[in-house]
Amino acid sequence: MSNVLVLVDHAAGAVRKTTAELLTIARRLGDPVAVFIGEGVSEALPALGQYGAVKVIALSNPELGQFLVAPKAEALAQVAAKVEPSAILISSNAEGKEIAARLAVKLDSGLITDAVDVEAGDGGPVTTQSVFAGNFTVQAKVTHGTPIITVKPNAATPEAAQTSPEVEEFDVTISDTAKTAKIVESKPREATGRPELTEAAIIVSGGRGTGGDFGPIEAFADSLGAAVGASRAAVDSGWYPHAYQVGQTGKTVSPQLYVAAGISGAIQHRAGMQTSKTIIAINKDPEAPIFELVDFGVVGDLHKVLPTATEEVTKRKS
Ligand code: FAD
Repeated sequence: MSNVLVLVDHAAGAVRKTTAELLTIARRLGDPVAVFIGEGVSEALPALGQYGAVKVIALSNPELGQFLVAPKAEALAQVAAKVEPSAILISSNAEGKEIAARLAVKLDSGLITDAVDVEAGDGGPVTTQSVFAGNFTVQAKVTHGTPIITVKPNAATPEAAQTSPEVEEFDVTISDTAKTAKIVESKPREATGRPELTEAAIIVSGGRGTGGDFGPIEAFADSLGAAVGASRAAVDSGWYPHAYQVGQTGKTVSPQLYVAAGISGAIQHRAGMQTSKTIIAINKDPEAPIFELVDFGVVGDLHKVLPTATEEVTKRKS
């Protein structure tokens, strides 16, 4: 079987769910080899083994964490030159996509971004993407070089496949040109206790219809263990931070369940959420365009519907 490189997405060794998804997808294509950059490889090892990594290549050069993404792309290119993988999978977040783009140039290879599914095909992986604000679904494959694919969160359900991967330390050489953008300060965002928006299985989003009161949105989200999102109208009004905006100029999400409350369903909002597996809308206007998209719709005032739903969920949990 050929090797498939998976760039591990982690925070100090705590492996993110997207990596479990990538390893699950990698197993359809070959033997997953995890590339771990930074500190904490021993903490990460059980999770990487749980999802089937046959080997972990650890890159611990401290310079990799001191600059923006250029050194990571360079390092990954060096790993790829040695391993000669049949494909490289990377999480579709801002950093992952920039690494992937730089890597594609270095390896003179084709790149596919934002795949929502990846399957083995004749002559290489076949990806599925949702393009043009979700109006088209495209099947694509890389025809030149090593296929580099960024995969959106929730593209696969992580499936366990217990392995005991060996760890191989890998020395990288970082060029001076890759060290031109240094990180001078890095502060974690204030913890909300809720899942990360792009990784969450459930998202409850609020729009202009909240009138600025996100209390019912947050309470319902918390009853479900969900993340909170917001439309641009809510963000532009200063009701919720931009980091939570869903849509064309915000985050693209693809959860199992997306609840849109007081959101009309403008094309730019849909662009960020319409690949969600199940969509529920709560809107007091029965003609709101969001209802064209939903699996379940509730015509009503979110300030009445959400507290009742929260109470019901809480009751059923206890
Ligand atoms: P509105 O369109 O005003 O809709 C509010 C809805 O709430 C209405 O349907 C109304 O019936 C309902 N409502 C009101 N009161 C209640 C109540 N009490 N209970 C239940 N329902 C109620 N938008 C994004 O969201 N994300 C983006 O990333 C984004 N990027 C953009 C990029 C560009 C270049 C442009 C031009 C626009 C972008 N937009 C984006 C803006 C987008 O076009 C819409 O203006 C925006 O999505 C509207 O937000 P909204 O649905 O919350 O507000």
